[in-house]
Amino acid sequence: MRILLVEDEPDLGAVIKQTLNREAYVVDWITDGTEAWWYLTNQEVEYTLAILDWLLPGLSGLELCRRLRKNNNPMPVLILTAKDKMEDKVAGLDAGADDYLVKPFGNEELLARLRALQRRSPKFQPQPLQVGNLLLDYSTRTVTLNNSSGVAPAISLTAKEFQLLEYLMQHPNQIVSRHQIRNHLWELDTEPISNVVAAQMRLLRQKLASLDCDSMIETVQGMGYRLNPAHVSRKTV
Ligand code: CA
Repeated sequence: MRILLVEDEPDLGAVIKQTLNREAYVVDWITDGTEAWWYLTNQEVEYTLAILDWLLPGLSGLELCRRLRKNNNPMPVLILTAKDKMEDKVAGLDAGADDYLVKPFGNEELLARLRALQRRSPKFQPQPLQVGNLLLDYSTRTVTLNNSSGVAPAISLTAKEFQLLEYLMQHPNQIVSRHQIRNHLWELDTEPISNVVAAQMRLLRQKLASLDCDSMIETVQGMGYRLNPAHVSRKTV
């Protein structure tokens, strides 16, 4: 799951990003409204939802929201603002925002609002993802195997391992390149670290090895990786 965060207060932005990263969200954090519009219209990146501060340099959060709705983009939007007068809330909701959070707020409240937003938007609500016998559970951030001999113990994944496996499971039997994985899992403004994808893949395979299904992730020489759910060891058949 990927979130666009547009917040120009450096301290607040950093805290929100850190909080969301811990919850396994990939976060692109932008501080300028005009730049944010470029991210929102970038076809290569698909956001689960957007958190927009109201007052921003360039385009305001409200204007960004209006533009999204004008483009028929149903992405859930949470507006952040210090404004708490009733007429301001009405303006926010009129612009097409799905919810409204008044500063200052606690991390737990923010996370609860985001979960509620996802529940209200079925398209954006993460359902357990199953490919072959492999089952990825968002609520517990675990992976398990569901096969003829029953359900194997669930294995806990780190935020990045979870994001990587989610991405592979969203593209079963397809070759995904290191470049695609990098763009999906890491923020667009981070410096590329060489071999970061390969290193993360190694960690994920170690976790899957405890379910005897690490062979499901194939390395396609010179091209990338492919999740092949039919490719399982004898023990898991
Ligand atoms: Ca602001």
